[in-house]
Amino acid sequence: MNRKQQTPQAWIRPEQPDTALERVREKVRTCIQCGTCTGSCPNAFAMDATPRKLWRLVLMGQSREIFESRTFALCSDCYCCTLRCPRGLALTDAMADLKQIAAAGKHGGDAACTAFYSAFLQSARRYGRVQETRLMARYLAVMTPRRPLMPFRFSGLGMQMIKKGKISLRRPPAGRSLKGIFARIESMKDGQ
Ligand code: SF4
Ligand code: SF4
Repeated sequence: MNRKQQTPQAWIRPEQPDTALERVREKVRTCIQCGTCTGSCPNAFAMDATPRKLWRLVLMGQSREIFESRTFALCSDCYCCTLRCPRGLALTDAMADLKQIAAAGKHGGDAACTAFYSAFLQSARRYGRVQETRLMARYLAVMTPRRPLMPFRFSGLGMQMIKKGKISLRRPPAGRSLKGIFARIESMKDGQ
């Protein structure tokens, strides 16, 4: 069988076999690169690789380029791409898979995105909501040794937001911890 007679997926070979990426690849296996997902995505303007390009990178097994990109971290789970994909692909779920793989730390990835997600989840787990000042304190504690000027970049914006009452310095009320829900999810994952 020559290359023209094969289906596109038959001759797409990952650059390096990567089992963590396999479940993502399965979700986008029949992508026809029409670009509807990119055209539908409200965050595409800020992504370094468009969603369409990201799916191509997944099919090609380009792990380094995928996890160095901020694309999946900027996905806000709005489901626009999933609703409009002509192949009916579970694209929002695929973005979530990439977030999980990056959070597991197997691929390095963008340090700032990983630190932000981790601080976000810690705050949600502990207070039952995101407490902005504690989130930023945790984030900056991780990032400042790598980027010493980062706190100065955020300080002006932070002061303005405090003055306008957009963020609070008060500790959230006790008793809203989501630790039980997080523990339940962890036990469900262990049972998979
Ligand atoms: S909309 Fe669907 S088929 Fe089109 S590029 Fe995006 S993932 Fe591929
Ligand atoms: S779910 Fe994510 S990738 Fe899809 S359109 Fe929304 S923000 Fe973009």
